[in-house]
Amino acid sequence: MIVDVAIPVRVSNSFHYTIDDESGKSLSRGSVVAVPFGSRTAYGFVLGFPENSDVDNSKLKSVKEVLVSEPLFDESMYLFLKWVSDYYCHPLGEVIATAIPKPLWAPKKSPRQKGKSQSGTLSHSSSILTQHELNQTQKQAVDSILNSDETKPFLLHGVTGSGKTEVYMHVLSSVIEEGKTGIILVPEIALTPQLTQRFSARFPNLIAVLHSDLTPKERNQQWELITKGVAKIVIGARSAIFAPLKNLGVIVVDEEHETSFKQEDSLRYNARDLAVVRAKLHKAKVILGSATPSVETYQNALSGKYNHLKLPERVNRRPMPQTYFIDLKDKNQWFSPENRWLSRGLVSAIENTLNQGQQVMLYLNRLGFAHFLFCGDCGHTWRCKNCDVSLTYYQNPPLLKCHYCGVQKKVPHTCENCSGVHLETMGLGTEQVEKSLKSIFPKARISRMDRGVIKGKKDLEKILDQINQRQVDIVIGTQMVTKGHDFPGIALVGILLADASLNLPDFRANERTFQIITQVAGRAGRAEVPGEVYIQTIHPEHPVLLSASRYQQDEFYRTELAARKVFQFPPFHRAVMLRFQHSQPAKVESFAYQVVRILQKESEKNFPHCQILGPAEAPISKLKKMYRWQCLIKSDSVKELQTLLKLLFDWEKQQKSPVQMAADVDPVNLL
Ligand code: ADP
Ligand code: ZN
Repeated sequence: MIVDVAIPVRVSNSFHYTIDDESGKSLSRGSVVAVPFGSRTAYGFVLGFPENSDVDNSKLKSVKEVLVSEPLFDESMYLFLKWVSDYYCHPLGEVIATAIPKPLWAPKKSPRQKGKSQSGTLSHSSSILTQHELNQTQKQAVDSILNSDETKPFLLHGVTGSGKTEVYMHVLSSVIEEGKTGIILVPEIALTPQLTQRFSARFPNLIAVLHSDLTPKERNQQWELITKGVAKIVIGARSAIFAPLKNLGVIVVDEEHETSFKQEDSLRYNARDLAVVRAKLHKAKVILGSATPSVETYQNALSGKYNHLKLPERVNRRPMPQTYFIDLKDKNQWFSPENRWLSRGLVSAIENTLNQGQQVMLYLNRLGFAHFLFCGDCGHTWRCKNCDVSLTYYQNPPLLKCHYCGVQKKVPHTCENCSGVHLETMGLGTEQVEKSLKSIFPKARISRMDRGVIKGKKDLEKILDQINQRQVDIVIGTQMVTKGHDFPGIALVGILLADASLNLPDFRANERTFQIITQVAGRAGRAEVPGEVYIQTIHPEHPVLLSASRYQQDEFYRTELAARKVFQFPPFHRAVMLRFQHSQPAKVESFAYQVVRILQKESEKNFPHCQILGPAEAPISKLKKMYRWQCLIKSDSVKELQTLLKLLFDWEKQQKSPVQMAADVDPVNLL
């Protein structure tokens, strides 16, 4: 008997092995076998049983051992995994290995342990049990979702605090009542403990939680709850899109615009896009929820590919916060010559808010004390030896850190270049903001919420609690504060440098800025007190900042879509970023050029809809000791793009180049 086996390696084809009829009969698609592969033994996933092989049967090697005979995926999951493999040009064996927890297919000793499953109870506080009567617009949204027969995706476009989560829960209730199941994808589960708690309070004992912080054992337990049919609802970060639920009724993607749905290594998939694909395969409903939809999703709603449901108002008609701009170019606005990043206007707004017993949130997306350290004599800056980016300066404790690879160094007293002693810092970080505010508001209780101080789930829960209990007056935070938290006491939000994200070399810089400003502003005035937002900027007339601050969303999307069309960027053109890396810069460069020559020749001949840009050194040209180059392919024909990529990877296989080449389909990060 011949078995067709996918092996988790970078090679894209599957392999044929022989097996005796007796053992062969115990196998089906999805079984796991141990097979000889080169000089080693590899795990392999059974894909099928071909009648014959193009290789002479007597030359085929035979399966060494059956590891798991019971299939790890069913037919519909197989179709999904196959789709993922084709679309992302990634070997099926590696896709399967990414989708299914390793201990299930790579058992330590004996084959898969069956046995005691832990019950899936989660602890939760009872304060979140409150069930709300839906308001009119929420009800309409739920009805449209439940009453539609077609499986067109829904964009649930609701302003911050408009009650989207309540809509998800009502839809889920009725899906569960029908005996079906659901997946809730959230950007980063550790950042949203409140959401998980709300769901597990509403659906006790029906929930499994999947995310990357689980130990292998916990992950197994959760997986088993799902395969046994105990858990009907899976809440998780991006990998939960592969949860083996049977009878799937709905997939929700909360905060669908978030970039963390995209995996940035190995299998570079976007769980938001896969949600739409999997829902279609299973004839399930899919809801993409956001206050600031991605430009791609918005365009799909405009074109009628998705249904566009709007929740234009906050629950109980709470007003959106009032916004004010402060021009940081205006010297008269500076609070002091040392604190040019802080305006008198914002300081007095903070004062007023504190006097009224309300809370303040300040946003700056920069960790550390300062952006970098430099020598005042020779201008030398300290950079990471592995990554060629500047090291961030921390004051307490004093350290230089690389945000890409984590390398840390003691802060030097003298310049390593000229031995000068006048070392200075440049750029603003959250640590410095904290220090200055402590001296301006000595009585205020000030906390920071960023990856420098929040190391895990415990730290996060603690600070969220403190904010909610009003044990903190001023919170200074990075991106972390934008993640959908519901803080009733925050009356004032200050955005310290609104321009920081506008100048990134990324075609999504405007979109990101619009989303960040809208999301941060949305933290203000969620309860009784009306909110205020102060936006400090050097471009108070910038159209993106204006439309965000005036809640003119249509205006923003219209302008942005027009620009994307002109420059032939997504959503109008598909993009694939080819990424090359190697430890020797000359090798990467010459291989990248070789690939581009081939692509150009091919596209001129056979792929007129494909455009090849580059190659170019990546903006982060060295990462973790590897030199990086890239090449962007754009096309308005998905089909041509896919065919060209297949061709390229077939060619690459023949080359046996030591340079790593990977395709990033629908890239999110261009650096
Ligand atoms: P979103 O997900 O859109 O930010 P949530 O669903 O978290 O909004 O709702 C915001 C707040 O309003 C929550 O505290 C929630 O409990 C409350 N809420 C939601 N729907 C209603 C409703 N119909 N009536 C009263 N309060 C509601
Ligand atoms: Zn580094």
